[in-house]
Amino acid sequence: MKLIDLHCDTAMKMMEDPTQHLAKNSLSIDLEKLAQAESMAQVFAIFIDLETIKESPIKAGFAMLDHFWKELEQNADKIKFAANGGEIRTNEMQGKKSALLAIEEGAVLEGQMGNLHGFYRQGVRFITLTWNYPNEIGFPHGKEHGAKGLTPFGFEVVEEMNRIGMMVDVSHLSEGGFWDVCKNTKTPFMATHSNCQALKDHTRNLTDDQIRGLAEKGGVMGISVVKNFLMEGEDDGRLEAMVNHIRHAHKVGGIDVVSIGTDFDGTSTNHEFSTIGDLQKLTKRLQEVGYSEDELEKIYWRNALRVINQVLI
Ligand SMILES: [Zn+2]
Repeated sequence: MKLIDLHCDTAMKMMEDPTQHLAKNSLSIDLEKLAQAESMAQVFAIFIDLETIKESPIKAGFAMLDHFWKELEQNADKIKFAANGGEIRTNEMQGKKSALLAIEEGAVLEGQMGNLHGFYRQGVRFITLTWNYPNEIGFPHGKEHGAKGLTPFGFEVVEEMNRIGMMVDVSHLSEGGFWDVCKNTKTPFMATHSNCQALKDHTRNLTDDQIRGLAEKGGVMGISVVKNFLMEGEDDGRLEAMVNHIRHAHKVGGIDVVSIGTDFDGTSTNHEFSTIGDLQKLTKRLQEVGYSEDELEKIYWRNALRVINQVLI
């Protein structure tokens, strides 16, 4: 089963430890593991944690992006940057996987629209508007932020992303921010790595109303392997929990809203899903509980590609 995974933190891990390379590493995602997973495209996040960076957010963002671009160039025979769905197809026809670039933490824009354009020109096509802190764009998930949504600059960012063809990602955003995006965006949007709040009560997950709102706008949610967003208790059981989250999102929002956003290299690995190659276990389990080939294709790549084709130009 081909795969488009909407989120991973591998670029950050490679920046932290320069001995880890894209070709082969001890992380959860490298080119060999992507081959096992039959990956068509992987979204790589430039994730900036505002509390640990030593320089300004924009400097940290461009430094990580530059580091990742070097890795891409060194592996140009196997993986290639893609700006949109057409380029994913072209890369596929040349036997190459695609890498799409995301920013996770809109604070790297430092409140300047010019910086959005700067990152766009360097290949960034997705922006996760907030991480877990308030920023110039809006407020993050969490009971204390609740209804607080986008700032005036945040509304402008969404409008400009719509205009130039970038993917608005609401994972990590407050509930108020989610609805501000949902009501104002002119294109479909994504929650690249968020699960179902009805099954695991966490503000990082989407409520049933949010899943329906996202589906009505034609967007998708990427189901992640992160334990805190899947289930209570011990690490065993992530496989069943993922199946349950996929079925719930399907039931509430329809099959077209369900995608995969693993969050690998942003989560622990001592469980059934240590690497992206292990997603094959999920495929098998979903077949066992009755998912058809057509439905599985939608979950694994067709839904994500549909939204990419609609939004990225
Ligand atoms: Zn995240």
